[in-house]
Amino acid sequence: PAERVRGMGESVFTEMTELARRTGAVNLGQGVPELDGPRPLLEEVAAAVLAGANQYPPAYGFPALREAVAAHQRRRYGLEYAPQGEVLVTTGATEAIAAALMALCDPGDEVLAFDPCYDAYPAVARFAGARLVPVPLAEENAGGTAEETAGDTGGGAPGFALDLDALRAAVTGRTRVLILNSPHNPTGKVFTAAELAAIAELCRERDLTVVTDEVYEHLVYDDATHRTIAALPGMRERTLTISSAGKTFNVTGWKVGWVCGPARLVAAVAAAKQFLTYASGTPYQEALARALGGVEEWAGELRRTLRRNRDLLSEGLTRAGLRPYRAEAGYFLQADIRAWGHADGVRFCRELPLRAGVVAIPTSAFLLAPDAPSHLVRFSFCRREKSVVEAVEKLIAAA
Ligand code: PMP
Ligand code: GLN
Repeated sequence: PAERVRGMGESVFTEMTELARRTGAVNLGQGVPELDGPRPLLEEVAAAVLAGANQYPPAYGFPALREAVAAHQRRRYGLEYAPQGEVLVTTGATEAIAAALMALCDPGDEVLAFDPCYDAYPAVARFAGARLVPVPLAEENAGGTAEETAGDTGGGAPGFALDLDALRAAVTGRTRVLILNSPHNPTGKVFTAAELAAIAELCRERDLTVVTDEVYEHLVYDDATHRTIAALPGMRERTLTISSAGKTFNVTGWKVGWVCGPARLVAAVAAAKQFLTYASGTPYQEALARALGGVEEWAGELRRTLRRNRDLLSEGLTRAGLRPYRAEAGYFLQADIRAWGHADGVRFCRELPLRAGVVAIPTSAFLLAPDAPSHLVRFSFCRREKSVVEAVEKLIAAA
């Protein structure tokens, strides 16, 4: 195999999903919802298929979906994007990220990403010939200041914060792109207004392009607020904003995503994207064009379900002695496994199905820095309440 895929064999998601299947353990590993998408949306797709929406859509995406995405960005963030030229529909957020890095990076260029990060970033950076440079997120300690523990769900639960000095130190003459992911996978962190302002200032100063992955934009709990960096002064012109329907509508298998940005950047992404997949998902695009207009109502209900699961998981992990971190958003919660006598999350996750009948993902699967801590494990709560409760009972029994 070529160098660009060497060592990329089976992912830990595949291994852990297989382990869950083999052992019958409760699967809180891969971030895949157990609940289905909204019924009317599913019916619209079925109707669209039967009505003949089965051929290629336009390369930039079905026009009504591009209009719906532009309207969504205007309504939620006060940002104007032209449906023609500044919005591009992609095969999930994953293709958008891959095409963006291919469009923006020359071989040898450097891309900054906060560590831990979604595991596709280093892979697609490598495909683009670029090098991903990790910027560790700072781990806040339990029992920190009131501000640090705001939004706490587990009695002084620690969280993760931007380390601005580490970020500044990571920028070199070869840095082209900063990948931001807020709300963040795997930590559930939402970057604060102050953190975004500091990142934006650095990007303007060092002329960096921002690729911001906001697939969890609607799944934010408690008092946390999702803000998009593109809305900060001088940032719209240097930012590609990516999102997708998978998380927002519980339809992760549909793989419909989108990118918004200034026309010159979006045209470059489209140039790469057209030769990756050209276009995909005609019936899904048609149905989502209508659904996106009413997303707030659906997402409100989904948020309530997820927040309740998050609370059940967080409380259960505390009772099991697996110290949970704060999760303000998304599908995931970090836990510290050291109280169970473990320092290595990979070994812990391989043993957990047998020891407790539960599957989780080692956070090291998302770490770029080799010396980064591995005493963290990621549990997903995008499952049925029943599954979360069952997992928690098993963990407590095994503690
Ligand atoms: N970014 C992040 C942070 C994610 O967690 C995911 C979910 N797997 C994706 C991107 C991928 O999104 P999609 O399924 O739309 O490609
Ligand atoms: N985003 C999901 C997760 O982080 C799915 C990742 C995957 O299967 N590649 O669990």
